[in-house]
Amino acid sequence: MTDTTATTRIEERLYQNRYRVDEGRPHVRIKRRIHDSDALISLLSICPAGCYSRDEKGRIEVATDGCMECGSCRIVCAKTGEIEWSYPRGGYGVLFKFG
Ligand code: SF4
Repeated sequence: MTDTTATTRIEERLYQNRYRVDEGRPHVRIKRRIHDSDALISLLSICPAGCYSRDEKGRIEVATDGCMECGSCRIVCAKTGEIEWSYPRGGYGVLFKFG
C-alpha cells in the first residue's frame, strides 16, 4: 500500500532551487550594527533559507547564497534599519524550479 501522507522536507524542496551568485554584490547586507538587536537575532530563525548565522565571534552575519527573495528579513528590520535589501541584478539570484 502506498503512503499518500508522505511529506517533503523543506531542505529537499530548497535543494530543488538553483542560485546564481553575483560575486561581490550581495543583495542583502547588514548595514548598521551597534549590537545584535532582537530583530537581527530573530532572523536566525525566520529566514527560510538559513542565510543568517553567527560568525566565530558570535555576531550575526548574512550569506545571500540560497536567498529565496521572500523579503521576510526586510520586513522584520523595516523599522530598525539594520539591513539593506534589494533584489539581485537581472540574471542573478534564485531560480525556482517549480515556479
Ligand atoms: S529575503 Fe528571505 S530568504 Fe532571503 S535572506 Fe531574507 S529572509 Fe532569508
